[in-house]
Amino acid sequence: MSRPIRIAVLHFSHETVTFLENDTTLDDFIYPGSPAKGEALLKFDPKSYMGGFVKMAREFDAVELVGIESPLWPKTYMGSGWVTQEAYETFAGKMIAEIKAQAPFDGVYLCLHGAMAVRGVPRPEAELARRVREVVGPTAFIAATFDLHGNEDEEFLKSADLAFAVKYFPHYDGYLQGERAARTLVRAIRGDYNPAHATLKVPIISPTVLQWTGASPWMDLVQRALVWEAREVDVYVNVFFGFPFADVPDAGMTIEVLTNGNPDLANKVARDIAEAAWRQREALLSSTKVYAIPEGVALAKQAVAHGKTPVVLADYSDRSGYATWLLQEIIAQDLSDTLIATIADAKATAKLKAQGAKAGNRFDMEIGGLADESAGEPVRIQGTIINAVEGHGQFWACIGFGRDNVLILSSYLVQVMEPFSLKALGLDIDAFKVIAIKSRVHFRRGFHDNGFAKTILLVEPTQPFLGTVHLDALPYKNIDLKRFYPYGNPTFPG
Ligand SMILES: [Zn+2]
Repeated sequence: MSRPIRIAVLHFSHETVTFLENDTTLDDFIYPGSPAKGEALLKFDPKSYMGGFVKMAREFDAVELVGIESPLWPKTYMGSGWVTQEAYETFAGKMIAEIKAQAPFDGVYLCLHGAMAVRGVPRPEAELARRVREVVGPTAFIAATFDLHGNEDEEFLKSADLAFAVKYFPHYDGYLQGERAARTLVRAIRGDYNPAHATLKVPIISPTVLQWTGASPWMDLVQRALVWEAREVDVYVNVFFGFPFADVPDAGMTIEVLTNGNPDLANKVARDIAEAAWRQREALLSSTKVYAIPEGVALAKQAVAHGKTPVVLADYSDRSGYATWLLQEIIAQDLSDTLIATIADAKATAKLKAQGAKAGNRFDMEIGGLADESAGEPVRIQGTIINAVEGHGQFWACIGFGRDNVLILSSYLVQVMEPFSLKALGLDIDAFKVIAIKSRVHFRRGFHDNGFAKTILLVEPTQPFLGTVHLDALPYKNIDLKRFYPYGNPTFPG
């Protein structure tokens, strides 16, 4: 090739909890920094998919990356429901128009998540790939990266050529998958990689809190995929665990295998991984112990008495950020030296901001709750403001109350994954004996897999709410749970 290889780079990601009442709107994707294009898009996430892709693509000579205007994650993060058709069509429309205007391209990189759910668009990622294919033509190559929570089926690779999903949960390998996407895409464009793939659905649907890859048998699935990648040159294996809180037709587990021109091998590997998952289905669904909140808080108290601190109480079930069940119980059982991070309440933080709240002010407000039935009742907190700051598109207030407890109030849902992220708020993390957070598995990155916490307790409200492990309590419209283990008796392999 005499001219440089030109690759269009796009980003469109969300993990949509379709059971939340607040839609993800056009406005939610628009804030300082988003949408992004050019170098700003290429640099927005240097340690994950985008960073790995850009770093590797630029190690090749004569590769030009064109950052197409793309929305970053909505400011509601994962705390919002269906993406509106207006939001999807606005951004997808702009992307397609810009690709057309800047053509020709030899390749396209789609930085995706896979669990976006859009009103009126059943498979938003596959639909985006289809539209991109229409404008770049049949000879260009389309590569994507995905979160393992993506809900995908064979539609995506009908339009795209390459897909790379993270293998670990917490998702440690986003950067690595970005690098692989770049390298394989450049090789494909140069005629050195001839994508031949297989996609296989496995009829297992599982709540995300159970999917930690630090323990068997989830860990064994990762290992099996890695072994195939090690023993067969140019094979890539994606094990999508799926995201059950998006009520979409392609939910459930999916295996995707890429090979260099060997469809038989792709089918063989996909079937091997799928059958291994199916054999382990019972163990996959019973790998993590979850306590009711009152029991979990009592166990935390015992752990503190035995010096097994810090204790992490992880409420996996809160999808809005507003849930107060754990806070109520911490107060009822009179825990001390406890950090609660966070309770979301956009109205309360807006009020504090308007008042010019600052350290030393008295605090007396009802906070949280009411976002939906799963959020519970608001809780009155009386104490003193320790810190009040604006950052990351939110207003944050740290409130001291009770016996050396601190509550962090945020505008939106916050999933704390690393203790050090809380230091930015001026807190001495080592001072707390108990840390109560809203996270399912990602917190293990900074609290468990590094040995920080001595006690880990996963908790849930006694009622089966929308983040529940009891998926059959959710009002699905687009999924028949009976087609999936453990809610029906599907036959597999079909
Ligand atoms: Zn994920």
